[in-house]
Amino acid sequence: MNIKEYFVSIFKGFYSLIKGMEVTGKELVTPKVTEQYPENRAELHIPERFRATLEFIYDDNGRHKCIACGSCERNCPNQTISITKRMVEQPDGKKKMKLDKYMYDLGSCTFCGLCVQVCPTNAIRFSNDFEQAVFTREKLHKQLNYLPEKDDAPAPAPAAKPAAAAKPAADETKQESQENKEQ
Ligand code: SF4
Ligand code: SF4
Repeated sequence: MNIKEYFVSIFKGFYSLIKGMEVTGKELVTPKVTEQYPENRAELHIPERFRATLEFIYDDNGRHKCIACGSCERNCPNQTISITKRMVEQPDGKKKMKLDKYMYDLGSCTFCGLCVQVCPTNAIRFSNDFEQAVFTREKLHKQLNYLPEKDDAPAPAPAAKPAAAAKPAADETKQESQENKEQ
């Protein structure tokens, strides 16, 4: 290396140092984008359409719109939803399917959204509440219809059978006629 090359290499070294310092200086004055979670919980913005967990839509009176048709359960690709239902008799005598339990396993949900799409009554939706961490897998099994049923009128008691009530009277009449014959 001659004397000229020596000074050129020193100049290049300084130039690269200044370039590096320029990048560092720019980052010093650029607004920060790093999120300090969980300290910033109150200011967090979670997109509305983010699918965190399935939930029932309850109205102000605590009623949901699930008619226990089972469409969501049948269309779920990995059996994440399990519904139990029962037939109830309404006051007008008509029978109606009622939902007993709507179980959802967050641990096996792939968040495909099929269940929400096929629901004919818009009874379910995805919440964007992303904080779903729990310590055991069992806690990922959730009952979505957690509120007591408001319009769950008990089935009317079976009406008394008229034939059973009339039987003793008939027996009495028979006994009376036998007594008359003996006289
Ligand atoms: S989002 Fe998909 S995987 Fe999850 S419960 Fe609905 S249908 Fe099943
Ligand atoms: S949530 Fe919707 S699709 Fe599923 S059983 Fe209820 S009404 Fe049917």
